[in-house]
Amino acid sequence: MKDDTGIREYQNMVDLWVKEVGVRYFSELTNLGILLEEAGEVARIMTRVYGDQSFKREEPAPDLGDELADLMFVLVCIANQTGVDLPEALAKNLAKKSARDKTRHWNNPKLFAGGDPGSAPGSPED
Ligand SMILES: [Mg+2]
Repeated sequence: MKDDTGIREYQNMVDLWVKEVGVRYFSELTNLGILLEEAGEVARIMTRVYGDQSFKREEPAPDLGDELADLMFVLVCIANQTGVDLPEALAKNLAKKSARDKTRHWNNPKLFAGGDPGSAPGSPED
């Protein structure tokens, strides 16, 4: 796999892998369960590395990248088996968020240390 593999190419690679190595896709509901399991594995690392929880002494070093990749793999499986074109869906989703939230976050004082959105570099008011 190249470092700059695109989403569509990855969707095709996962589809080929499932058919050649995995035999077939697990059912959609099984993959939903696996997606939640993998999200839990990501959450476990995040709560211990960035949150207040700690690892047990005997635990191996966490690999957040590997767990995010597990999560993305099963997400792509679900997209493939339900006919979702992820590059198209991602582009539409980002366009939706951009239109909907154009000023929303700039108007959220909780996102600024001093509580003054107008003083932030790159703010729409600049
Ligand atoms: Mg995992």
